[in-house]
Amino acid sequence: MSSSVVCPLCHHIHSDIMSEKLRYESPRKVYKCQDCGLLYLYPQMTADEERLFYEKEYGEIYSSEKGTTPAKLFESRLPDARLYFEWTRTDLKKNHECLELGCASGYFLATIRDHVSGVSGIETHLLLKEYCENIGIHIYESVNECKNEQFDRIFMFFLLEHIGDPVNYLKGVMRILKKSGKLFIIVPNVDDALLKLYDIPGFKSFYFTPAHQFYYSKDTLSRTFRTAGISEFMIHPRQRYDLSNHMHWMMYEKPGGAGRYNDVFSQVLLSEYAQCLEKQFLCDTLYAVITKK
Ligand SMILES: [Zn+2]
Repeated sequence: MSSSVVCPLCHHIHSDIMSEKLRYESPRKVYKCQDCGLLYLYPQMTADEERLFYEKEYGEIYSSEKGTTPAKLFESRLPDARLYFEWTRTDLKKNHECLELGCASGYFLATIRDHVSGVSGIETHLLLKEYCENIGIHIYESVNECKNEQFDRIFMFFLLEHIGDPVNYLKGVMRILKKSGKLFIIVPNVDDALLKLYDIPGFKSFYFTPAHQFYYSKDTLSRTFRTAGISEFMIHPRQRYDLSNHMHWMMYEKPGGAGRYNDVFSQVLLSEYAQCLEKQFLCDTLYAVITKK
């Protein structure tokens, strides 16, 4: 169904409604721009709504869903942190000052701390912020608060999709990045095979969530970077979920199942499957590396 809602990226005036149902109760719907193809939630959160959501509500939804605490979150996300360290490690040097935006309980910064000169984070959720400070990670309130600093390496892992004004946000981040410094961004890929190739209804109603205001593909992420004045970047395809997880979605339309059939599937099959999806950008994740000119 076509609707005259203005695309927040290219400002085209027609979008189609892609989904009226989100993971949690919400007055918002998912739209797709007829021109640039961006998927986004509308109506957008105001800046105040966005701030309150992250200071309070997001954490409540999060902890009621997972029954977690900052310490448990730290433990459970260490494997992810090690994976992101693998992806970035050739770009990390002993003399680098590093900043992670949306660092949660600090698992990634704690993982790289011994390999770089210094680590700081930005985190607005109060309990997560306190946890980071307790483990010795300095936390800034916002990008604005560190506007006089310059970092060699900046990380934004699964953050950009939460931001209501990504173009201006990225411009602000680029200002605190040193010349020749690098910004690493990871976002979910909306061209995920579970959505685009297999079109699983249960996955669709799980995938779109009130917390994610934008759903990027390689093309719309590139366009977002260029609109923010960023010209030097690479976007790499990455598949994080495995074949067993995909079969679980197909059979039960629910998350889970990772590793279940590993007794039967060979490593060659698993990595071939991931590579097939990556080659066509039907993978679940986009990993972007931006260099400041
Ligand atoms: Zn558009």
